[in-house]
Amino acid sequence: MFRHIRLLSFDLDDTLWPTKPVIMAAEQELYQWLAREAPRIVRELSVMDMRERRVAFMEAHPGISHDLTLVRRRSLALLLEEYGYDPRRAEEGTAVFRAARNRVAPWEDVLPVLGRLKQDYLLVSVTNGNAQVEQTPLRDCFHLNLGAADVGAAKPHPALFQALRDWSGLPFAKMMHLGDDFQRDMLPARALGMAAAWVHRKGLARRESFRPDLCLFNLWPLLRYL
Ligand SMILES: [Mg+2]
Repeated sequence: MFRHIRLLSFDLDDTLWPTKPVIMAAEQELYQWLAREAPRIVRELSVMDMRERRVAFMEAHPGISHDLTLVRRRSLALLLEEYGYDPRRAEEGTAVFRAARNRVAPWEDVLPVLGRLKQDYLLVSVTNGNAQVEQTPLRDCFHLNLGAADVGAAKPHPALFQALRDWSGLPFAKMMHLGDDFQRDMLPARALGMAAAWVHRKGLARRESFRPDLCLFNLWPLLRYL
């Protein structure tokens, strides 16, 4: 039933690697950098306080909320300024965070399955997050890597998927999107006419309101279905 599929798009966070541990580690690294470079901040604020401030900043600036790196850099610059440090050093702090953000650990099925699929399909990563795929262990897995910051809008907005169509010249009917999130991955893919494959790593119960074209606990079954 998927013989017509030519392009597979993959969400990254919580589809190909667990996200929470890498974000926590990256925030911890940034905090240690601040402890050295801007100790007055660390004396007053915890990692959690900083997270709350960043979220508040993002909510106050919805126009850039799709660009998480910009949100991080600008909110860090404000914080540095508030505590009497040079706000331009936010550039460096953001780089520390990003380097750690890229140290993801893909699930064990990911590299072998993508390696096989790449021989027969166009593979694209589409993420709302700010991992830099070319700096991760998945650097050779995709023909194209796209993020919300590249297209100016985060999923469920269709911009990322429309960019896939423009890049490949394929109709949505020949594409399958794989992701962990119903709202951000499954619904927009289905609305555009793509096949929607739900990757639910934790084995969550299926929602009855919506039936994806495929439900997967990991990527191995793709080699059978495609
Ligand atoms: Mg995800």
